Amino acid sequence: MDPYTADDFTRDIMRLGEGRPDPQVVKAVVDGSRDAVGWLRQRVGVPFIFSFHRQAYLVNGRQVFWGGLALGVDHDGGKGLIAAHRAALEAAGIETWFDTPATEIAVEGGSIVGLVVSRGGKAKTLRSPAVVLACGGFESSRALRSQYLGPDWERAKVRGTPYNTGDGLSLAQRVGARLTGDFKGCHSTCWDANAPDDRGDRVLSNQFTKSGYPLGLMLNARGVRFVDEGEDFRNYTYAKFGREIMAQPGGYAFQVYDSTVVPWLRKEEYADDVVEKIWADTIEELAAKLLEKGLEDKDAFFHSITRYNDATRAFKAEKADARWDPAVKDGVSTQSSSLKLDLPKSNWALPLENGPFLAVKVTCGITFTFGGLAIDPETAGVISGATGKPIRGLFCTGELVGGLFYSNYPGGSGLTGGAVFGRKAGQEAAKLAKAAA
Ligand SMILES: Cc1cc2nc3c(=O)[nH]c(=O)nc-3n(C[C@H](O)[C@H](O)[C@H](O)COP(=O)(O)OP(=O)(O)OC[C@H]3O[C@@H](n4cnc5c(N)ncnc54)[C@H](O)[C@@H]3O)c2cc1C
Repeated sequence: MDPYTADDFTRDIMRLGEGRPDPQVVKAVVDGSRDAVGWLRQRVGVPFIFSFHRQAYLVNGRQVFWGGLALGVDHDGGKGLIAAHRAALEAAGIETWFDTPATEIAVEGGSIVGLVVSRGGKAKTLRSPAVVLACGGFESSRALRSQYLGPDWERAKVRGTPYNTGDGLSLAQRVGARLTGDFKGCHSTCWDANAPDDRGDRVLSNQFTKSGYPLGLMLNARGVRFVDEGEDFRNYTYAKFGREIMAQPGGYAFQVYDSTVVPWLRKEEYADDVVEKIWADTIEELAAKLLEKGLEDKDAFFHSITRYNDATRAFKAEKADARWDPAVKDGVSTQSSSLKLDLPKSNWALPLENGPFLAVKVTCGITFTFGGLAIDPETAGVISGATGKPIRGLFCTGELVGGLFYSNYPGGSGLTGGAVFGRKAGQEAAKLAKAAA
């Protein structure tokens, strides 16, 4: 396969972050990423596989992975990832305590000496010269979402754990940590409108994601399109389109496909037994059925799709050689010299003309928040607001790291960053533990 170089990775994070990510934090992630994957494979036993199922199509008989994202994890992605980590912890004799929230970082004489947790309703202090915070952002807190992201965000559906309520930020702030990064930004996707509100489903997990939109259209309650569904590969748009849906009336939208593209929808995301599928033989009939599901203007819905279809046909008439190909940015668009849409679909713009037609109702699912703690990128040490230097003994990783993502992010870089800084934090914490032993 074509290499995905350090320059490619850096460019992707910087481009999607609109040039705002901290270059030193990005460099640390990029430089540590290849090594982290090897370590996860060899030391933790993570069963990496090629990501044929979500992230690839055949081009001229060769498999192409979008955005260079070639690896996934066997045994259902995140579930296989966690199972491998748990097995590795068990093999190393490390206990995991559930139902044990951290409530305070223990400090004596100005130094970190451990962590206070609540276990069985009782406070317990775990003594240690180092604490690594890896307890997520504030995506699961309605109040903090509303405060930082805006009032609309109260109604976003939580895609993952209900427990990431910003505790890591408040624990660290109480010992003087500095906040940094994009506190107005988050990762949010097109998510099944029928999914649970305040937590993901641990069994169905990612099956509520609905990222087939490059193959079709998205229309809001007023029957109007609101994003360029073909702006870029799914990998570069899926993390920001949740926000776009949130901004629509009612915070929901309808994805629409015709029977030409339905076979291309990923079965992990559009399984019959998970998603509610609304079928109709004609666009008019589909619009009528969607009135019950929240569509407010069926005429506008019909008009938007008709005009879109006209634009795709005008394009085809002008560029008869252009070939639709979901594996590359094919340039098959709605823009021609005779007809241009105000809001284009820039790639993969086939007319929606072959019934039966399918609609799926989607909303905004929040994955994680971007604002976090300032760190020393070499050690993942948390920076003090007072001194601008790392607070001795305090480290963080994952969603708690601030300054890495702004506005948008390239798929896969979240877990990559978590692995890189998690390793750094672990190594530094081990040094302190060894020195104290
Ligand atoms: C459905 C879904 C699909 C995803 N797909 C991808 C993907 O394909 N690629 C990718 O890179 N990323 C993906 N992500 C994002 C990725 O999983 C997260 O960003 C990543 O797991 C964050 O790691 P973390 O360690 O910071 O937090 P988490 O993995 O969320 O772990 C935080 C833990 O801290 C616990 N916790 C919270 N507060 C406390 C407290 N006070 N005391 C003790 N424990 C506490 C929580 O219970 C939780 O177990 C996906 C997320 C979801 C929900």
